[in-house]
Amino acid sequence: MRTHIRCGKLFTGRGADAAVGQTIVIEAGRIAFAGPTAAAPPPRPEDAVQDHAGAFVMPGLIDLHTHISYGDAFTQEAIDLYGSMEYRALRAMHLARKVLDAGYTSIADPACSGLVSPAVRNAVEVGLFEGPRITAAGPALTSRQGLYDWYPSWIGVPPASTGVQVRSMDEAIEEIRRQTKEGVDIVKIALDGILSVPGKGLVSGFNQAEVSAMVTEAHRLGRIVAVHARGTEGALQAARAGVDLILHASGMDDACIEAALANGCAICPSLTLLTNNIDFSQPTDDSNVWWPPLQQKELDGAVAAIIRARAAGVPVVTGSEAGFAITPCGEWHARELETYVRLLGFTPAEALHSTTVASARFLKEGDSVGEIAVGKWADLLVVDGDPLADITVLQDPAAITAVYKAGRAVERRAPFVSGRHAGEMSQGMWNSLYTREAVSRRGLGPLAARAAE
Ligand SMILES: [Zn+2]
Repeated sequence: MRTHIRCGKLFTGRGADAAVGQTIVIEAGRIAFAGPTAAAPPPRPEDAVQDHAGAFVMPGLIDLHTHISYGDAFTQEAIDLYGSMEYRALRAMHLARKVLDAGYTSIADPACSGLVSPAVRNAVEVGLFEGPRITAAGPALTSRQGLYDWYPSWIGVPPASTGVQVRSMDEAIEEIRRQTKEGVDIVKIALDGILSVPGKGLVSGFNQAEVSAMVTEAHRLGRIVAVHARGTEGALQAARAGVDLILHASGMDDACIEAALANGCAICPSLTLLTNNIDFSQPTDDSNVWWPPLQQKELDGAVAAIIRARAAGVPVVTGSEAGFAITPCGEWHARELETYVRLLGFTPAEALHSTTVASARFLKEGDSVGEIAVGKWADLLVVDGDPLADITVLQDPAAITAVYKAGRAVERRAPFVSGRHAGEMSQGMWNSLYTREAVSRRGLGPLAARAAE
């Protein structure tokens, strides 16, 4: 049996336009034909015909920076400490499903607790649960003062953290080999993290020789290598070492751009975490005074760096850094594309190309997904609207009218958010310091009445 999909407009993932009057024919989950309806093989009696003749059809979206094990956490402690690994895996399964429901047929998860994301990947692959295709890392390798080493040294990096601290090159190489054996697709290395030096910015937790050795070993073992590098030093080390994917790259300078071009590195800016922090932070958040301005400063630097890198020819792929309370899974992924258009000078077609064809290269499926072309997996998104005219339509759940994965229509669920947030397991009781002034400012209690007098 074949499935014929009638498309009002068809955007293949390439080019500047969508074509009208097109049909996709799917056989055994893959695209057997894509082109003008008049040229399509006629449906046979046993074939199914899906009429999306009023809709915009495009490849399923790809988000290369989605942390399904983080649990949409309110705090870093909730990510690192609370909830059993078993609970995290079940929660991650639920969140992965939400991402698929939003039209994302593939994600990469660069850093998780334990083996949560590889486990969810496997459960989806064998058909136990509905979910997106997942290209998964294990915990990110980190060093002293790198990301994840934010607790006092007498605590260290907790075993359930989404990072793992390596204290020597031997430990790093051993960890890469262990993770490879355990089935990770991506080796993730956290370069800069905590330490910032005046005049230099964020300092990497590793030196160049260490980064190069880790990347060489991970590549020898056939893994994709992604790094977290906001600062200039970490981004430069990564580019010189020839990593596949630099996440953030906010501080990328000309030397880094040159090395990225020479070694074929792509960047995945993941700006949605910044834009959401800037736009959604509230005066009632105690961090409101310092956090949004800090994020705005990073965004300004990142935008300038990415525009320069892209103009020089460095590929810019797409991820949103979903998984935090400010970027819940399934909610804001497509906001990244709006940011590409509004701030980075992408045309909508270029943004769609970035989140489909260009990003597919960093999935374990490679270029067998991300494009509507003969032989590719039939991962499709059907939109009531035209993202080439208005990229924000992809953020509207009501506009996503159907999602196909390997040619099969996904049964999308009604939105569901658990009434009890998993972060409550942290025994956290208050999110603020309830000084007399703070209570009064919020209009609470008798102090407010006094203030109003
Ligand atoms: Zn991340």
